[in-house]
Amino acid sequence: MAIGSFFIRASRVLNSSNFLLLCTLSGGGVVAYSESQSGAERPSIDSNDPSKKKVVVLGTGWAATSFLKDLDASLYDVQVVSPRNYFAFTPLLPSVTCGTVEARSIVEPVRNIIKKRKGEINFWEAECVKIDSSNKKVFCRSNIENLVGSGEFSLDYDFLVVAIGAQVNTFNTPGVKENCHFLKDVEDAQKIRLSVIDCFEKAVLPSLSDEERRANLHFVVVGGGPTGVEFAAELHDYVHEDLIKLYPTVKDKVKISLIQSGDHILNMFDERISSFAEQKFMRDGIEVQTGCRVLSVKDKDITVKVKSTGELCSVPHGLVVWSTGISTLPVVRDFMQEIGQAKRHVLATDEWLRVKECEDVYAIGDCSSITQRKIMDDITAIFEAADKNKSGALTIEDFQEVMDDIVLRYPQVEHYLKQKHVRDFTTLWKDLQGKECKEIDIESFKLALSHADSQVKSLPATAQVAAQQGAYLARCFNRRDHVEEHPEGPRRFRKSGRHKFLPFRYRHLGQFAPLGGEQAAAELPGDWVSMGHSTQWLWYSVYASKQVSWRTRVLVVSDWTRRFIFGRDSSRV
Ligand code: FAD
Ligand code: MG
Repeated sequence: MAIGSFFIRASRVLNSSNFLLLCTLSGGGVVAYSESQSGAERPSIDSNDPSKKKVVVLGTGWAATSFLKDLDASLYDVQVVSPRNYFAFTPLLPSVTCGTVEARSIVEPVRNIIKKRKGEINFWEAECVKIDSSNKKVFCRSNIENLVGSGEFSLDYDFLVVAIGAQVNTFNTPGVKENCHFLKDVEDAQKIRLSVIDCFEKAVLPSLSDEERRANLHFVVVGGGPTGVEFAAELHDYVHEDLIKLYPTVKDKVKISLIQSGDHILNMFDERISSFAEQKFMRDGIEVQTGCRVLSVKDKDITVKVKSTGELCSVPHGLVVWSTGISTLPVVRDFMQEIGQAKRHVLATDEWLRVKECEDVYAIGDCSSITQRKIMDDITAIFEAADKNKSGALTIEDFQEVMDDIVLRYPQVEHYLKQKHVRDFTTLWKDLQGKECKEIDIESFKLALSHADSQVKSLPATAQVAAQQGAYLARCFNRRDHVEEHPEGPRRFRKSGRHKFLPFRYRHLGQFAPLGGEQAAAELPGDWVSMGHSTQWLWYSVYASKQVSWRTRVLVVSDWTRRFIFGRDSSRV
């Protein structure tokens, strides 16, 4: 069943008498606005309950959905805007490309999610095309086909939650947009699935030479990260378990290549996992080309440069899947320009997920990155705050009193202590001077923490991070009134009092890479690495069970069962 027909589309037609004229230039990158008549008002969506603060949420992905699931919606007037009226469980997208799992099994209609929430949440199927933070407004446009009336409207907000994810990074490589498949959304996965079958149908046509058959059956994956690796593994299984039985005459002509610019695939994992994956792929006949950069992609061939030798080679292909990471969406880039973040690569927030240089705007998930404050920027203020008797020296008690707040405010300190195998602050205190001492001065204090900032780590763009940020932010929104009187965050060193909330802290549950043939590799917290056949089940028991809804679990299990009994679906419908 096509995904479009599966979901109930938002059917609300907006009043279009005074509409906003919106011109999109250069493929959506620059958007210009003007009103259709001077002085005319834009269609602006009214609040349900004017006494409640208006929260506008952009997106229905991991971050936004997690926020909506945990938010006490009865406290706010909540409006959600997204061009997708469903949530997609992205870790299973590679399985959709090969029909192991059905698209409808890994999506959840947003209206089902919001229906279950306490309080009313409005959903508008549209994309946000501009964020105007100085007037606390977002401008939106619906792309639903054959809409009667205007799909353009604006929403006022008191609080804005930007959770719109990111786009595929093509590194401006010529021909990538036109000739490659991406694997970001359910529609992408479905297109790949049809194209794989197309390649086989093309390859068996009677009019082709052997060389042409090989070209049609050369599948190229660009990017050796978890998505590229998993797709290559899924495709290998699909070809060898199902397709070669259906197309036996071309079974020796299939080739899967994985091109990676770094020295190893899965280089964000432990190196034991990278080499396990590389060896498994070698045994399976998947050609891994590391240290290679794609220079251009044409409809029938791909040009690759070997980085070490500078050698160029042009290889014919039947299908290319491009999976080389993410970049900022145009609407976010325009917003960054507006708020003075133009020089940054990604929208910066503070540790409370508030967009920097901007009032009442939060950003969560792949569209943003936390800028962790450096302890060295505040070290003098911290020392002065700790030195209660203003003697210019700290006792161990002064030191201990501020350390708890320091660890909450600057998580890099905790990583630093762990890395140095320092178990508690008394040990650190003793380490400071190599002997027991009664007091330390500011220079020793600075020295003790001077390397802590090297442990500042940016968080990966993963569903785990996005979901935890959504849940964290919802909790903050739910407790907004409570913390006014009972702040729960660390003490402020530069000002008096405490921060209202604890800063966001990420809890890493580990990472997992399915490698095909029921094998997988997982890296769990505490340096625990597991590879092989049982890993997949280990992973599902410790991680996936926390994230997946019961509906998804039931549908995915029934898809897997069907696949074992009947094989994967290889029809073109
Ligand atoms: P998304 O989930 O991408 O959601 C963005 C939302 O914003 C979407 O609803 C989109 O429709 C909407 N949107 C876009 N533009 C606009 C706009 N202009 N206005 C309003 N709304 C807009 N992570 C893991 O942790 N584990 C995994 O195993 C894993 N596997 C993955 C496999 C694949 C194939 C892919 C593509 C990703 C995978 N990830 C995985 C990464 C994970 O999916 C992302 O990190 C996560 O989706 C980020 O969540 P998000 O909410 O920031 O963005
Ligand atoms: Mg003192």
